[in-house]
Amino acid sequence: MNTELNQQAAAVKTELKRMLDTGCSFADARLYGEDRSERLTLYDGNLETNYDANERGIGVRTLYKGAWGFAATADLSSIPACFDRAFANAKAATMLPGFPKDMGPAQPTKGQYRPPVKQDPFEVPTSDKLALLSGIDAQLKDDAVAHRYVTASFQRRMIFYWNSEGTEVDRWQLNTFGSMAVMAPDPQGRTQRRTMELFCNGDGTRGWEWIADPAAFGAHAERIRKELAEIIAAETLPPGRRDVILLPGQGFLQVHETIGHALELDRILGYELSFAGGSHVRLEHIGKLRYGSDKLNARAGIVANSPGTFGFDDEGTPQRDYYLIEKGILVNVLSSRTDLAEANAKAGRIAIKESGTAARACAFYRTPIDRMTNINIDAGEDGTLEDIVAATEDGVVLDVPVSWSIGSNREHFHFGTEIAWEVKNGKRTKVYKNPTYHGHTLEFWNSLDKVGSKPSWCLQQVPNCGKGEPNQIMELGHGIPVMRFHNVETGEKE
Ligand SMILES: [Zn+2]
Repeated sequence: MNTELNQQAAAVKTELKRMLDTGCSFADARLYGEDRSERLTLYDGNLETNYDANERGIGVRTLYKGAWGFAATADLSSIPACFDRAFANAKAATMLPGFPKDMGPAQPTKGQYRPPVKQDPFEVPTSDKLALLSGIDAQLKDDAVAHRYVTASFQRRMIFYWNSEGTEVDRWQLNTFGSMAVMAPDPQGRTQRRTMELFCNGDGTRGWEWIADPAAFGAHAERIRKELAEIIAAETLPPGRRDVILLPGQGFLQVHETIGHALELDRILGYELSFAGGSHVRLEHIGKLRYGSDKLNARAGIVANSPGTFGFDDEGTPQRDYYLIEKGILVNVLSSRTDLAEANAKAGRIAIKESGTAARACAFYRTPIDRMTNINIDAGEDGTLEDIVAATEDGVVLDVPVSWSIGSNREHFHFGTEIAWEVKNGKRTKVYKNPTYHGHTLEFWNSLDKVGSKPSWCLQQVPNCGKGEPNQIMELGHGIPVMRFHNVETGEKE
């Protein structure tokens, strides 16, 4: 820590003690020494976005008589005033009806987290970044392609956390995202698209070296260009019930929308009803509900190379790897410390034993809420994509979302994907366009009958999950194997 930061840390610790002396049961502070984000986008070869921002500041929470107060400032010379405002807000909140908040006991933690990075992208000259994107753009170019884009974005955050229990955490986050797409109208005039996102198998590092690795990104340009041509020439997927094989590029969204969001404790308690929605999951379901088939093992996991891995959450709790759904049974939910007491009181039992280390805020001026971390599906034992295709009589392989519609309680869903490959008698036959599938969350997950082995598993990044009021955009990851679902409703009836 430098001198300035040492002085700020000393001021925060003095204020945390003062809050306890004033009658608060808990207080904490997150100081962002840096919150840098950069985005570069080429659209049809032209530089459309060149965005670079940096934010610094502190966010303070105080818990007084069961009510939260929050305040934030970018003026790091006025830390005591920020604590005063947070305390005044908590006092005001005590006058509002609500379930009294209680952080429960926790051992103080001291720790540090650094993500695996070889080359910091913020040290790479913009000209080198543009050269990489231009090289990929050149490979996307084709007479049959009407529009193309390629984009890279980077985040670097230095966050210091302290609370009134003595926890002190110092962590960095560094994330790298990449995406490319080609688009063209089909003979009916409908725009078709094929996309590729920067991906990996969960190992490796998170810096510039990742996006610069052709195997992880650039080398896929030619493939998506060719696949777009196949989509343009294809017929629309005929409606009918058939097996659906989701590649990780689509499986991640299925997990995100029908497992991840459904298992956020604040949604289960109804705190997100006015914005993001609720959940079909009830507190009494924890430990009992059959969410999916025996093949379904979902966890809030730790994946080294993922934006959903951060060492400690925004309440200073060390990140844990734990099952949400084990052999198809719902065993846990995504939680922070904040709502555990309320959830267990309402359940009439200890339904959730400890924080799910899912307290996350998108900036110093937002409060932490229950967020997804890495919501992964464990790899199974059903082999590669080719093995699963070979075992399928009548089905489709689907990849990459183009549209999604989900009931606010996450009970029903309807997804459209970029591409479908028909599977007949164990062989991929032809490409269809405009594929869709829909179903009921529990029925669908109970129809999971093949789960690919580790070589089929890969990490999909989500840079833009939206939740909260005011809205918070959060980044996370999903480690997903190839998955087959039996007898699913697909396509649109006339
Ligand atoms: Zn989301």
